[in-house]
Amino acid sequence: MNGIADWIDKRAFITPGRIALIDEKRQLTYREMSAEINRYAHMLEVRYGLQPGERIGIWATNSIEYLMLLFAIAKLGCIAVVLNVRLTPSELEYQLNDSGSRLLIVETAFRQEAESILASTEVQQVLWFDQGEGSRQQLPEQAAAYPSDLLRREGVAGDTPFIICYTSGTTGKPKGAVLTQENMFWNAVNNVLALELTSFDKSLTLLPLFHIGGIGLFALPTLFAGGTVIVPHRFDPVKTLQLIEEHRVTIVMGVPTIYDFIRKSPNFPTTNLDSIRWFYCGGAPCPHELIQSYLDRGVPFAQGFGMTETSPTVFMTSREDYGRKIGSIGKPVMFCDIRVVDERGEDVGPGEIGELWIKGGNVMQGYWNRPEATAESFHDGWLLTGDLVTQDEEGFVTIIGRKKDMIISGGENIYPLEVEQVISQLPAVDEVAVVGVADAKWGEVPVAAIAVKRGHELHADDVKLYCQKRLAKYKVPVRIDFVNELPKNATGKIDKKTIKADFMKEEQHG
Ligand code: ATP
Ligand code: MG
Repeated sequence: MNGIADWIDKRAFITPGRIALIDEKRQLTYREMSAEINRYAHMLEVRYGLQPGERIGIWATNSIEYLMLLFAIAKLGCIAVVLNVRLTPSELEYQLNDSGSRLLIVETAFRQEAESILASTEVQQVLWFDQGEGSRQQLPEQAAAYPSDLLRREGVAGDTPFIICYTSGTTGKPKGAVLTQENMFWNAVNNVLALELTSFDKSLTLLPLFHIGGIGLFALPTLFAGGTVIVPHRFDPVKTLQLIEEHRVTIVMGVPTIYDFIRKSPNFPTTNLDSIRWFYCGGAPCPHELIQSYLDRGVPFAQGFGMTETSPTVFMTSREDYGRKIGSIGKPVMFCDIRVVDERGEDVGPGEIGELWIKGGNVMQGYWNRPEATAESFHDGWLLTGDLVTQDEEGFVTIIGRKKDMIISGGENIYPLEVEQVISQLPAVDEVAVVGVADAKWGEVPVAAIAVKRGHELHADDVKLYCQKRLAKYKVPVRIDFVNELPKNATGKIDKKTIKADFMKEEQHG
């Protein structure tokens, strides 16, 4: 197995003049990208004396340099610890110490925060870099003095860890999934086959590169296929649409919140989206109404499913089916197998709810430093996802919700997602989250937090009435709280732990 950086060096030989990377400042051909990665690798090795297996923290926002750093680290057989820039200082401190990072690469924009925690970590060396134009502290400037000759170390690919990527922390403390270069390879192969990616594709990276979503969807697979990756510095809906039109982008990956912002952008109706082969949405449940609004605009819009632990792609809806299977996450990708399993570990039949289990070359080795959590997550080599799904006769899978989110009320199971999908059909609803709170009579009852669209009005009784007409009585939220915005965690997912705690607090105070 060749290392992932070999993809770029080989492309620099096969199609040296093709454009590999584009950002606001410059664009690089494969030849230039390969040379720059080699400079970064030489710089890291010479300046910091890195040894294979060492962990290197990266604390930065999106840029093409970030991607090249990842490839340089892969060349040296080191492990990149990609840090979420929205974490609190104590969370960052935890992740740096948990991973045992000795070198930290930080964007100068975070200098203050970094300096406040460095002393309480094991970090011994810091590489500061600037993203601002004209600054000599930018990475290419710092690496300019180092040679661009091919740096190639044997034995760095295969099952050597490549990144430690922390999960979103939706259900608990984020866990560091250890992903190898081989995991990246299988994710690339699976995406190339599922999306029919070629060197003519241009993908837009809207998700953060400190999350597996940004790395694996679709930056690495696009480079694997010899295509072009466009990396805006930060997400802005107006600019996103301009970039799509300007560069004739073919594939975009986003989470529901991103697509909601894009469709509300003033230039959405006028942007030419003809070049788009796919808008893929994943990472969290997508309201059906959101999917439909893109289909109404005539753009291919489909769901996929991924996890940090699976590098991330597991499901993608295909060209034939995205229009007729709205709400499904599709079928598993080529080299990834799934099972839908009941409490006793037996496969359930079509239409029955079970837990999703996953096996494939894209599945992580385990969680960093967490042997118990790793052991709990695997059974016979299958990754236990904690996600409840159904699979229909044709094999299409639909997400029902997370095991941990399920509400049991008077002995009946309530899946919050089903209730959320109903409430989000109300035109005034911007966002909704349903959680369970303790109840003396029923054990637990469902309650809902709703953010109303600007300029709209909504009453709790109307929501309840709407639900009563569409759902069994025990599923109708007994209480509805209106909020300005739902709390989100650092990867932008709705933070149900906080919502639940808020409801419980209010109950206590009457
Ligand atoms: P943690 O594991 O720390 O609790 P997390 O599971 O949110 O956080 P990620 O790895 O970022 O961390 O997210 C993977 C999860 O996201 C999946 O297990 C699933 O619950 C959810 N998910 C991904 N894609 C979809 C989708 N298309 N529809 C619904 N849920 C999805
Ligand atoms: Mg998870």
